[in-house]
Amino acid sequence: MSSDAKVRVNDSVRAFVAREHGLFINGGPQPAQSAKRVEVFDPSTGEVIATVPDADAADVGRAVSNAREAFDARVWSGLRPADRERILLHLADLIEANAEDLAQLETLEQGKSINISRAIEVGATVEYVRYMAGWATKITGETLDVSIPFPPGARYTAFTRKEPVGVVAGIVPWNFPLMIAVWKLIPALAAGCTIVIKPSPETPLTALRLAEIAVEAGIPPGVFNVVTGARECGAALASHPQIAKISFTGSTPTGKLIGTAAVQNMTRFSLELGGKNPAVMLADVDVDQAVQGALAGGFLNQGQVCAAASRIYIHRSKYRQIADALADVARSMTLGAGLDPNAQINPLVSAQHRERVEQHIARAHADGLRFLAGGTRVDHPGYYVNPAVIADVPHDAALVRDEVFGPVLALIPFDDPAEALRQANDSPYGLAASLWSNDLRTVMNLVPRIEAGTVWVNCHVPLDPSMPFGGYKQSGMGREFGKYAVEGFTETKSICIAH
Ligand code: NAD
Repeated sequence: MSSDAKVRVNDSVRAFVAREHGLFINGGPQPAQSAKRVEVFDPSTGEVIATVPDADAADVGRAVSNAREAFDARVWSGLRPADRERILLHLADLIEANAEDLAQLETLEQGKSINISRAIEVGATVEYVRYMAGWATKITGETLDVSIPFPPGARYTAFTRKEPVGVVAGIVPWNFPLMIAVWKLIPALAAGCTIVIKPSPETPLTALRLAEIAVEAGIPPGVFNVVTGARECGAALASHPQIAKISFTGSTPTGKLIGTAAVQNMTRFSLELGGKNPAVMLADVDVDQAVQGALAGGFLNQGQVCAAASRIYIHRSKYRQIADALADVARSMTLGAGLDPNAQINPLVSAQHRERVEQHIARAHADGLRFLAGGTRVDHPGYYVNPAVIADVPHDAALVRDEVFGPVLALIPFDDPAEALRQANDSPYGLAASLWSNDLRTVMNLVPRIEAGTVWVNCHVPLDPSMPFGGYKQSGMGREFGKYAVEGFTETKSICIAH
């Protein structure tokens, strides 16, 4: 355990956490009709720090109706695109002004390192908001040179318009609660939609705070609403007939339920789901770079990253060297609370999730797999798991197939890149992959053959707002980021004028 040189939590953050939290509807907090509450825990201690409403179908209905009224009144889509852009840029400034508070709040409820909260959860989010704000003024249709032959002599001009789809449901997981809420919120707003965000029951606080900041930035009441709650709240939102588009990030099983619910109402949907992402290290790999890459790709946020590197295929000529180095670092990593900036491994998000990860570890033991590091229980309050490095994992092991979503690396040696490619692709998932080599010919031969929405070369996990992000196969449908994100919140209308 680390020395506990913890960041002191700001009084403003403590005061926010201690509030009697409600839902956020029509520009302000509102009590829920549901009397049920969800407890929010500090993952570093297991203590309850707050409760939020467990919204029921009636509460969800109220939020959606409110968002629909705001949409119909055109209080947001009726603004000039330049005004929407300006307000979203102002929101970015205000998130930046509240950066430390938001980062502390995220670490308190999610458990991640304050360093990651500052740099990614808030820092990358501010850049994302600024990038996406610019799309508000760059949504365009096309003019079409049509050839309609009747009546003889008639002339036509046709064009398309991209129109906001309506009320969006943004359903968010607990691993990057603020950042992923923003991945949905800002492109939806840039397109002119209104939105109801449902954060994960484990991590609802930053979305509630973000909604307040959005009002301060000038986003009109009713445009951005937040409902908190568990599975039933999400299901009520996903099946609500007034929702025009669902943007979901979460697990593949929940994604399937959401897709099924959406189809009943012909609700548009996009799904960003799980991953079991391979990193393939070829014979010429730079060992130090590969070790750093596997650690960053595999242990960032305790491996609770959809795109985390979790299957590490290593050419046999470098296998021993890389495996030993990874095991050495993993064994020496300091566990500690997210508020301790020196801690290298922080708690998982919840007791339930730690139990799930421990079940994967127990299964690996039962399968007789060889642990080079980790695999033992942490005897300390909070939801800690020792980072694990597991060697010589056979292709048919559950550890190769199942998403663990924890700090667990499976190492797999290979002799032939074609064999590594075949094994890397032999997975139901296809979110991301990385290749580690400077052999351009081999890399460029492999890139088109990898079944994944993102392929990194000599890096694993960097994202950029301009770079489309999403999954092949069971890792999802649709893309976030770039123009794809904004277009996903629009309908295309054709207009044909006879003259
Ligand atoms: P989850 O699927 O359990 O929950 C995600 C959200 O859906 C939560 O808000 C939850 O309350 C809600 N939900 C649960 N049941 C629902 C239902 N029936 N209808 C509607 N909503 C419902 O996922 P999680 O455990 O919060 O997050 C971890 C998962 O998310 C992992 O599988 C991870 O890979 C995935 N993930 C994917 C990406 C990506 O971009 N591809 C990013 C982050 C996380």
